Amino acid sequence: MNSPKIPEPSRQSARNWIVVALLLTAATACGLLLDRYISLTSQAMIYVLAVVIAAYKLDWIGSAVCAVGAVTALNFFFVPPRWTFEVESQEHFIALATMLVVALVISHLATGVRRETEIARLNERRARQLHGLAANLSSVTSPEEVLALGQEALDAAFTGPCSLVLTHDGNELDHAAGLAASVRDGMRCCMAEAAVLGPGTGRWPGLDAWYLPLGDKGHMTGAVCVEPALAQDVSGREHAQALCALLAQALWRLRLTSSMLAAQSDAQRQQLQSTFLAAISHDLRTPLAAIVGAASSLQTQRDKLSPSEQERLLGSIVSEASYLSTVTENTLQLVRLTSSAQEFRRDWESMEEIVGAVLARVRQRDPERRIKSKVPEGLPLVKADPVLLAQLIGNLLDNALKYSEGAIDLTVNADGQELVVSVKDRGPGIPEAEQQAIFEPYARGDQSGQRGAGLGLALCRAIADAHGGRLTLRPRAGGGSNFVLTLPVEAQQPGRERP
Ligand code: ADP
Repeated sequence: MNSPKIPEPSRQSARNWIVVALLLTAATACGLLLDRYISLTSQAMIYVLAVVIAAYKLDWIGSAVCAVGAVTALNFFFVPPRWTFEVESQEHFIALATMLVVALVISHLATGVRRETEIARLNERRARQLHGLAANLSSVTSPEEVLALGQEALDAAFTGPCSLVLTHDGNELDHAAGLAASVRDGMRCCMAEAAVLGPGTGRWPGLDAWYLPLGDKGHMTGAVCVEPALAQDVSGREHAQALCALLAQALWRLRLTSSMLAAQSDAQRQQLQSTFLAAISHDLRTPLAAIVGAASSLQTQRDKLSPSEQERLLGSIVSEASYLSTVTENTLQLVRLTSSAQEFRRDWESMEEIVGAVLARVRQRDPERRIKSKVPEGLPLVKADPVLLAQLIGNLLDNALKYSEGAIDLTVNADGQELVVSVKDRGPGIPEAEQQAIFEPYARGDQSGQRGAGLGLALCRAIADAHGGRLTLRPRAGGGSNFVLTLPVEAQQPGRERP
């Protein structure tokens, strides 16, 4: 909003005098030009017209001076004896006095009308500003945006300087270092009193600015200093208060939203942790019982067991223990990724090295060498946690080994600004209805007798998300599954020489 900027007093009075002089000169010139054709009454009317124009254009003093000047000029130039200030007849004297009163009344009335019109326009502009600010504030998402909108509104509404500062940690003012000490003190004081201070407020009337709190006791979000502040400018002060009320409301809404979100994510985290705890205790119990059973049989009855029986028990201990280790590892990583707000460490990593390490580990479970890998040389490096990425690819390969028979293809390709890792098998595939659900924790498909905890793919997706990538299941022509991991590649690559 552009409020009428107040002209400097000295310039304003100079302008008044010039307008008065011009109007009186023009009226006199007209009177003299038409002297031969019009009567004294008409000449008086020309001066009245000049007074009306002055009353419409100038303030009360300017138009009153014009009224007095008009009567004086009429007397000097036109009332006999002309070219003197004397008044010959009583009738002319009464006419001049009447004209003076009329001129003064006209200028008083016209100035009043003009002032009321200006006030009405100003109020309308202020109402529009409040309406616009409320609309803008309804969509803000950060206190910085409120700060910018508030400062802009104050600068538009008042000639200033105006300052707006927000609080953090209770009543401490944010970024208030650039303010004068008196302004900072005024702001602190108004926040402590939770009331407007300054001229016309009844509190600290000697101040030369208004200090307005943003909010009320217990809900303080900042403070505002508005200049110039005049005790008689009640509507200006009310407008500043209305602006501050809108800003305080928006700031409080943002605070409430952020504490609500924090509480929500806290509750979600706690719920997730207890779900994991319940699930892990359930998943660990069966393999642990099997290990304890097999180990105690071996310990107490080894002499009575045949070598093949002993071999079978040892094999079951190894397989149960490795299942336990996988489930524990997956659970712990999933808890870490989904319930911790902490950032994990990422370094520049080579996909070739990660895939090599995974294959070395998974091949122990792939005696028939079903996994065929194709990793071209010279792939760009990715910023990643190598342990997590290895776990992701390892889980996909384990699933392919578990749920399919026949060849499994592991390929890595660079595609524009992305690195694409794909694990394809020729197993039964996953029905379309289950393709989204299998990425949820503890979701299992039609397992065809395979053992699992339903955590592998959930962890894979969480790892992909944490790296800014995606894990998707794509249809594979000819049957089977095709899990595709896409990782972003940064354009700025480090030197290839690794330490
Ligand atoms: P788990 O293997 O422990 O059940 P996952 O989260 O790894 O848990 O997998 C979820 C489900 O997705 C599995 O139960 C299985 O039904 C299905 N699945 C995963 N990988 C494959 C695959 N390669 N082929 C067929 N089905 C699969």
